[in-house]
Amino acid sequence: MRPKILFPLFASVSTLGGVGSKATQLLSRLCGDRVVDLLWHLPTNLVDRTYSPALINARENMIVSLRVKILEHLPPKSSKQPYRVICSDGTDRLCLIFFKVYAQSIAKNLPIGEERIVSGKLESFNGQWQMSHPDYIVKPQEAASVMGIEPVYPLTAGVSNKMLNKFVKEALQTVPKFEEWLEPNFLKVSKFPSFNEALDASHHPQTGQDLLPSSLPRQRLAYDELLANQLALAMVRHEVKKQSGRKINGNGLLRQKVLQKLTFNLTEAQERVLKEIYADQASDYRMLRLLQGDVGSGKTIVALLTMLNAVECGTQAAIMAPTEILAKQHMETIAPLCEDIGIRAEILTGRTKGKNRTKLLEELKDGKIDILIGTHALFVEDVVFKDLACVVVDEQHRFGVHQRLCLSEKGNQADILVMTATPIPRTLVLTAYGDMEYSKIDQVPAGRKPVDTRVMPLDKLPEIIVALQRKIRNGARAYWVCPLVEESEKSDLAAAISRFETLQKYFGNAVGLVHGKMKEKEKDQVMDAFKKGSLKLLVATTVIEVGVNVPEATVMVIEHAERFGLAQLHQLRGRIKRGFEASTCLLLYNPPLSENSRARLNIMRETEDGFRIAEEDLKLRGGGELLGTRQSGFDEFCLADLSYHKDLLYTAHKDAQMIIAADPLLQTPRGRALRVLLYLFEKDTYALQITPLV
Ligand code: ADP
Ligand code: MG
Repeated sequence: MRPKILFPLFASVSTLGGVGSKATQLLSRLCGDRVVDLLWHLPTNLVDRTYSPALINARENMIVSLRVKILEHLPPKSSKQPYRVICSDGTDRLCLIFFKVYAQSIAKNLPIGEERIVSGKLESFNGQWQMSHPDYIVKPQEAASVMGIEPVYPLTAGVSNKMLNKFVKEALQTVPKFEEWLEPNFLKVSKFPSFNEALDASHHPQTGQDLLPSSLPRQRLAYDELLANQLALAMVRHEVKKQSGRKINGNGLLRQKVLQKLTFNLTEAQERVLKEIYADQASDYRMLRLLQGDVGSGKTIVALLTMLNAVECGTQAAIMAPTEILAKQHMETIAPLCEDIGIRAEILTGRTKGKNRTKLLEELKDGKIDILIGTHALFVEDVVFKDLACVVVDEQHRFGVHQRLCLSEKGNQADILVMTATPIPRTLVLTAYGDMEYSKIDQVPAGRKPVDTRVMPLDKLPEIIVALQRKIRNGARAYWVCPLVEESEKSDLAAAISRFETLQKYFGNAVGLVHGKMKEKEKDQVMDAFKKGSLKLLVATTVIEVGVNVPEATVMVIEHAERFGLAQLHQLRGRIKRGFEASTCLLLYNPPLSENSRARLNIMRETEDGFRIAEEDLKLRGGGELLGTRQSGFDEFCLADLSYHKDLLYTAHKDAQMIIAADPLLQTPRGRALRVLLYLFEKDTYALQITPLV
């Protein structure tokens, strides 16, 4: 339960003075509708309103704040003309200009004969000073509220910077004084201000330097957010590790048989990670290991051998995939091998229904099924294992920490192996998993040819089609990928269909279309036809990202490549790297291409090293966007920016380790302050819930 001291921060912004229901709605669109959301919404720029020259020697086009006397009102003669107000600062005249403003309100705010401070952009027109729609008009005694440095916030229609400044000011007043949660020595060495000071300073930048992620107040806030993240993960891990595991150390017979059936030898990298995994399984700790391996590095067989170790010990194993297609693909690879060695693998997805499902669940409970393959349908309550000892999560970033723990609870201290295909830079591994044990298949099977990747503008389409016709005549199969993103789903889908129709003119019946809006059955049919080779060219929205394995496909055209994340492009390209023939990937862009996009696409041309691609992408795009989707299961940070605050992350990581080693239940005075930190950054859901505090 959230500590009382935080209640005002998690209240609706409507609890702030001056924030009505309209403003609440707008803010919820801009940054969120809680006070804390407003506090995390930091300025990105500033306006200096301290320049206050005499008009006679003022510079034009500057933001100025002037003390002027109101001389005369000139209402418009027609509705097209502005309302003018003539004033003077004693050295020269200034004309204030208002379009479409109520005359009454002007008369009220600028009464003739009185003095006002006006602040805005000073312009010169026909030799006369003018200012249209001053940003501020205040009485002389309120000058101080205007004539300083004004923070500038990211805005949305309907919320002006002036309003936002006012709201943030109100929000800052609700922030309680927190007990320091950082270690005193660290605080001294880092020169960080307190959290309260840092938040205040970040909302009151005085120079451009203060807006940078390197400023001390911003660093302090980033550190706090990262520490909350690392501490939460450390607590989860501490909890999982505390439960002792079971020793899984099979006799190796099933594994030997499977290895004999394979047409290839394991790579050195596969052998190495298996050794690491087996050691975990055999220990009396519970395994919690992340297996990273690039597309095509051969994770499936590693998963199977891991599960077989459990089956050799008379227990069950499960593997969970993020999509139906992927679960089916696992089934297609795993089931025949299992059949050969006399054990049973079954698949359970959302499509398993009725009698089939009932029967399957019974057999599962009786222990007649050794390996269960499925989607998140495995989470459902009535899925009960006889004795689940090994869980593999093939996640591709689609599961959150929470879901992962959910499945492991179905087991009896089950070991957990999380597999991920998108190479994740170390920084993100740390923020998503803390320091889960970590194995990396850093080698793809020998003999695979590099992909010839080219970047070209879409206007080369005619040449591309001719080249593609030649390739297909020579027996190649090709993907044609069109982007489909949620925000512009309709127009994207239309574009994909229209591309399909264009290609039909050239390729006739040999071209097929598959997209997310089709029925499962239709999708399967098209995919099957492409797999069997009756279709040669497959136009697809990004569904094939996690789609089937077609070794014969050696060409991939990606339209609007500039709209994809690099990690995604890498995944897509991985689809044509499966065969042993040279393959070609064309990245088509819609000109003109921004400097940044060009740099990104060039990285794809330069390297096939998924880790390098991910690191570069992180540099160019920042962490949150890297994985393309918001349901990535990766924490997104409000205050930390991983492309700048990497070092802070490593420090926070170490800090969290030390905290948990010394005070696992957060009971010391510092521990209690840290609990507030966890709640402040909303890490309570998965840290504090499974680690109830006393
Ligand atoms: P991913 O890591 O992307 O899941 P897969 O497990 O699907 O990769 O393997 C990709 C392809 O490589 C499969 O066709 C698989 O049979 C094959 N493969 C796996 N390991 C090896 C190996 N050591 N040598 C040759 N081919 C292998
Ligand atoms: Mg795989």
